[in-house]
Amino acid sequence: MLWERVYVAGPNPHKLHSFAELRAMFGPLWVRCDRCRRFRRLRVTRALRDRDHRHTRFRCRHCGGQGWVALERPNTEPGMENYADDDRPAPFDQAATHARLRSLLPWWNDAEWAWRFEPDTGPPTENDAYRRRHAPANASGDLSIWMLGASAEQAAVVNAWLVLTLNPARIVPATHETHRIQGRSRPGGHGNTLP
Ligand SMILES: [Zn+2]
Repeated sequence: MLWERVYVAGPNPHKLHSFAELRAMFGPLWVRCDRCRRFRRLRVTRALRDRDHRHTRFRCRHCGGQGWVALERPNTEPGMENYADDDRPAPFDQAATHARLRSLLPWWNDAEWAWRFEPDTGPPTENDAYRRRHAPANASGDLSIWMLGASAEQAAVVNAWLVLTLNPARIVPATHETHRIQGRSRPGGHGNTLP
């Protein structure tokens, strides 16, 4: 077995057992939650720098359970390959959003109605907006909803839920969109069904 030995060259410039010392010796640090199987990078901020890591506890923001400081990126460790990196934006999942819509609104009519959301492809920070409940004002993407024969109330409920969930930056008036769609596909054609 190879034991990696770590030394601080010269006098230790950091407070003993501080996070600053830990970072100087081991490089990047992570905090992981074993219950949620998630982790994120630990930023050694000014507030954390001189604190004793032996007596500092972290709490998971998802489950409230204890977070553990890790010296290696958790998903590179055996048995932790499926740990999720919380700092990476989750990809937009239309199927999962649709399943949630159907369970919340049982009267949603899959045979006649459809919706589609196309997030703008851009830097990761922009895509990140779609997983947040309160996306920044510059988030953008196209949300299209088709509800043939739906009542105004049904349309309003679905529209409100999708807008709240997906947080698109702009909403195209229906007439505008209908003309665009009719120009390239038949009503009920494959152009407006979900994958
Ligand atoms: Zn957790």
